[in-house]
Amino acid sequence: SPVVGVLGLQGDTREHLRALAAAGVEAVVVRRPDELAAVHGLVLPGGESTVIDKLLRVFELREPLVDRIVDGLPVYGSCAGMILLADRLLDGTHDQQTLGGLDVTVRRNAFGRQVDSFETDLELAGVTDRDWPSPGPEDGGSVHAVFIRAPWVEDAGPGVEPLGVVPSGPAAGRIVAVRAGNLLATSFHPEITGDTRVHRLFAEVVRAA
Ligand code: GLN
Repeated sequence: SPVVGVLGLQGDTREHLRALAAAGVEAVVVRRPDELAAVHGLVLPGGESTVIDKLLRVFELREPLVDRIVDGLPVYGSCAGMILLADRLLDGTHDQQTLGGLDVTVRRNAFGRQVDSFETDLELAGVTDRDWPSPGPEDGGSVHAVFIRAPWVEDAGPGVEPLGVVPSGPAAGRIVAVRAGNLLATSFHPEITGDTRVHRLFAEVVRAA
């Protein structure tokens, strides 16, 4: 069965490991190139994208990870992880780089001061519009989305499927979840809500790859 890594340089690695385990997936921390080489999929956790960017280079993970993404490695990025997957970044720091792979423009810290952290329920294509095999208490209805100084997808290329938008309020209509092939990204943090559906969706992507 597939092994999914969680990048363990900075951010909420532990929460993703727990969510993957709850989703029935074997999950391991990835901090070294040999650990990266051994996984069938990778989660880029939430945290601070500028710090993760620097540490990827320090730990000599940047190049092998870019190569594996180009080769089709399934990757799920939440929040800072979404930033790292973006081909184009707005409001990054002057020397900030992304890994790229997702044909999207992402705006960092997009929600501004008033709503820079907030929670909302939203519909997610491929997640809330289907029946899950082993239904749990979280399996019905919308996803509770927690945004913490989150990015949004400013625009997405033709090969990118928007999966969900902010339903109401000042940011209504903004894209906050996307998928393109083996790459999945959310602006929000399903790993801290106890709802494992997004991680189960990613596990399906990994199994199919
Ligand atoms: N604002 C952070 C960044 O720029 C992301 C926040 C998060 O991951 N919760 O990386």
